[in-house]
Amino acid sequence: MSIPANHPRRESLLIREKLVEGYKRNIVALEGLIAHGRGECFDYLLGEKTHGFALKAIRAAVAHLLLAKHPVISVNGNTAALVPREIVELAEVTGAKLEVNLFYRTREREEAIAKHLMEHGAREVLGVGDDASATIPELFSERRRVSPRGILIADVVFVPLEDGDRTEALRKMGKTVIAVDLNPLSRTARMASVTIVDNIVRAVPLMIKEAIQLKSMNRDKLEEIVRNYDNNRVLQEALETILERLRELSSSQLILQPY
Ligand code: ATP
Ligand code: MG
Repeated sequence: MSIPANHPRRESLLIREKLVEGYKRNIVALEGLIAHGRGECFDYLLGEKTHGFALKAIRAAVAHLLLAKHPVISVNGNTAALVPREIVELAEVTGAKLEVNLFYRTREREEAIAKHLMEHGAREVLGVGDDASATIPELFSERRRVSPRGILIADVVFVPLEDGDRTEALRKMGKTVIAVDLNPLSRTARMASVTIVDNIVRAVPLMIKEAIQLKSMNRDKLEEIVRNYDNNRVLQEALETILERLRELSSSQLILQPY
């Protein structure tokens, strides 16, 4: 499908195309398309831009990754389809390992995702096939299977687009969990140690930039960033922003000027 250059929802439609393409290539699960729709709705409410509260979370998230002993980036289908090159680059700059971890796990999809990441420059991808031989104490989903060289021993896990149950399970294991979730009300957003309320397509490139900057800082400074970060406050600010935006829009000529 070709999308006209001046289409008002062009960016959003291009993102959808990437997911549909990912679905056809067995990278994205059918359920992943639905999950994206829920995210899109919140992106609408946020005005489809990165706000100050997300920048604060990005800074703290990157500081955590740089301070970690065993940082791991957990990759699912939507993440691989939307930001493959960026996620590989983020792993490079922060020294994190990449691990495939799927809610709807099939060998074919694991392999398709690992191959996709390799094509975008990844040197190693954990969690494929027999490598996911360890289990984390989580009852229901296939996501409990993890790599003993990756998520099992990780102190900091970056889990963009995570599910609430799993975020909780990882926190219970004492890990620092960083999530990207456009919905500040989701259990993921509430359970994570650092929640980046932003679209993954905007957040990950900003994380790379931040990592390049923070890398030159000493550990004390990074520890200070982590210490001063308040995730509850960040979630409150996200909700306040939505509230404010709706207040403004509801008192303006909404029909004539939707943006
Ligand atoms: P939870 O399990 O955390 O309570 P949920 O069950 O409501 O959340 P899921 O279906 O598990 O939601 O995951 C979808 C979530 O991913 C949505 O909350 C949505 O906001 C988020 N999401 C989807 N696409 C994106 C995206 N491109 N960028 C950021 N967040 C996204
Ligand atoms: Mg869920």
